Amino acid sequence: MNQNPPFPSPEELQAKLSEFMKSNFGDKVTFASFAQPERAEVGDEEEPPKPIEDGFVFDFLPRDIKAHLDRFVIQQDEAKKVLAIAVCDHYNHINYVRQLATEDAVRAEETEYAKQNVILVGPTGVGKTYLIKHVAELIKVPFVKADATKFSETGYVGGDVEDLVRELVQKADGDVARAQFGIIYIDEIDKIASANNMGGRDVSGRGVQTTLLKLMEETEVPLRSANDLQGQLQAAFEFQRKGKAKRETISTRNILFVVSGAFERLKTQVARRIAQGQIGFQNAPLAVLDNDVFKHVTTGDFVEYGFEPEFIGRLPVRVVCEELNAGDLYKIMKFSEGSILRQYERAFRAYGIEASFEDEALLLIASAAALEKTGARGLLTVWEKLFRDYKYHLAGSGLTQLRVSEELVREPVRVLERLMAEGHQQEKAAMVHEAQIFADRFSAEHAVEVRFDESALQRLAQRAEAERMKMSELCAHLFKDFQFGLSLIRKNMGRTRFVLSASAVDAPDKFLSDLVLQSYGPAAAPE
Ligand code: ADP
Repeated sequence: MNQNPPFPSPEELQAKLSEFMKSNFGDKVTFASFAQPERAEVGDEEEPPKPIEDGFVFDFLPRDIKAHLDRFVIQQDEAKKVLAIAVCDHYNHINYVRQLATEDAVRAEETEYAKQNVILVGPTGVGKTYLIKHVAELIKVPFVKADATKFSETGYVGGDVEDLVRELVQKADGDVARAQFGIIYIDEIDKIASANNMGGRDVSGRGVQTTLLKLMEETEVPLRSANDLQGQLQAAFEFQRKGKAKRETISTRNILFVVSGAFERLKTQVARRIAQGQIGFQNAPLAVLDNDVFKHVTTGDFVEYGFEPEFIGRLPVRVVCEELNAGDLYKIMKFSEGSILRQYERAFRAYGIEASFEDEALLLIASAAALEKTGARGLLTVWEKLFRDYKYHLAGSGLTQLRVSEELVREPVRVLERLMAEGHQQEKAAMVHEAQIFADRFSAEHAVEVRFDESALQRLAQRAEAERMKMSELCAHLFKDFQFGLSLIRKNMGRTRFVLSASAVDAPDKFLSDLVLQSYGPAAAPE
């Protein structure tokens, strides 16, 4: 229960603040002067309310929406179709009424319409949220999601539910007009079924249903929550400045509501009717609640489940999002545009590794994910477990290709060890190559021929790795004096070819000075 006293109105708040200022700062500071506008010009009064200039255009066919969803969501064809139609009906109706309002406001106001709010029935992780999110993105309306369980847990029901509507305004970057065409998606709705039919009384479940029902019908939600202190102060200052308090509200008339839940017990309810012979059904006993079985689910079933008839009556569009099997999970990885596979490709690419995936590997991953029984979410779990060590150890290992094979999925540890060794070899080869490029460049620039022997190349590669330096930088640092030293030798004795060994890498100064000294000695002779 909300025990706080009611928040003061803007007028009361202004009086209280003025009083506070006066008692703390005397007459020197007044609240009025704090919020006074710098200049009050004629016309700086309350702006006349603007007509809704929302720029909202809806111009889609159900098949456009379905085609868009097909790019991301695998299976769920019935749900895609049903949702596409509900969305088109909803926004076409809004278009119609808005057009009518420009000609005949009264008729527009009186037009009868049963809103096409939707119930999606289905287990977790099969794409319910994903569907709505992509619909909202396509038609460019704000979208918010919440769990119904959140409402029953917090003591004050009404406040939280209204927060959902205010959240739509945030999602619409503060554009109230746009928020009023948004989509609100409430998951786990089956958890607010009241236990009435089970012989008990569940006030909280019913309470939430009633509050939600109000939103789904039509209501005005204040833009600023009574608990939003900053918002209330802003309103008070606005009142102070303009002498009038603007009471802004958001209408829920055009907001589309989608609710969802697993509705576990529905299966048993339908199965019982089949057993009693009320429904003739081929595939009894019922293993899953698919759209074929769902055809036999009635409003009465939802009421028996624990929903108020009025509540369920406001949700006329009903469809099942079906369970996903291993084959579907394979298709999700392979064909969905939002596939986790692409995410991992990007993650590896960021470390300079091109990952590719064999079909046999994906099939194995799909079977493992299906065992998790969490729909496509199972994929996340399996991928994370499988590739965690790969990301850790292969990043910076020098490996540039990662082929994800069946063997890798079956024996990830062994394959990783092999790849790390390979990566090491590749990295070493790349470093040796870089050292040779340095020698070539040095030779070309300074008119001498410099070469590293095998021992020098090995030592350079070791040092570059140990000191985490780029080979070109390491060489430039070690051999910075060689340009002068070697040209001196060339002048002294005409020698132009130099082979540097490991000792040149270990002690470059000594190596060079020995060479220079030799070039002055009697034994100096071209190599
Ligand atoms: P829920 O049904 O519980 O709302 P989500 O829609 O949140 O599940 O699915 C979780 C994630 O799994 C999605 O973000 C998406 O990446 C993936 N996913 C789920 N179902 C599908 C599907 N049918 N096709 C493609 N991806 C899916």
